[in-house]
Amino acid sequence: MTASAGRIGPNAIIQTAAALRARVGEVHAQALVVGATGRGLGALPTEMVDEAEVNRLVRALAHDLDPALFEAVLRDAGRRTADYLMAHRIPRLAQRLMGLLPPALALRVLLAGIMRHTWTFAGSAAVTLRRPRGAPLTLEMRHCPMCRGMRTGTATCHFYAATLEHLLTTLVTPAARVVETSCEATGGPACAFALRLRG
Ligand SMILES: [Zn+2]
Repeated sequence: MTASAGRIGPNAIIQTAAALRARVGEVHAQALVVGATGRGLGALPTEMVDEAEVNRLVRALAHDLDPALFEAVLRDAGRRTADYLMAHRIPRLAQRLMGLLPPALALRVLLAGIMRHTWTFAGSAAVTLRRPRGAPLTLEMRHCPMCRGMRTGTATCHFYAATLEHLLTTLVTPAARVVETSCEATGGPACAFALRLRG
C-alpha cells in the first residue's frame, strides 16, 4: 500500500474547515482550505477523501497559524467530529448503555466500536490498543496520516486527541483526559494517545 492509498472520512476536512472559519473568518479560512485541498468552503467533500489531502491541510495550518491557534483549531475540529459521530454514527442504544456502565467497562464498549471503525479515520495507518506497564490504556497509530512529513518539537495530532477526549468525556466519564504521549512528528515510534479515566 502506498502512502497515498489510504482514505479518511470527510469530517477531517469538513470539521477542520468549520473550526477554521469560526476562528480566522471566512476569507482566511477559504484561502487556506482552497490552497491545501483545491476545494472551496462551499464545495467540501461528502465522501471519503485521500489522506494526503488531509495531511496537506494540517501542514498548511501548521505553516500559516501560530502554534496556539493551530492547536485550538484542530482541537475544535476534533470536538466537532466527536459531536458529529455521537449525533449520526454511534447508535443511541450503545450511548445509553455506556452511560449506565462503570467507566472502565464503558471505555471497553467505546473502544470496541472505535477499533471496528479505524478505516474511517486512520487511512493507511496501523491502529493498535496497548496497555504499557504502569501506564493507561493507549491507542497507537503507526504511519499517522495527520502529522506525516512534519517535524515538530511537541506532539501535534490535536485533532485525534480532541476527538477521542470528547467521546470519552461525553460517553465514559467527564473526568477522562486524552494526551498524545508520543508523536511521529517529534521522532516518536508512533502517535500514541493515553486514555486516562481520571484526569
Ligand atoms: Zn502525532
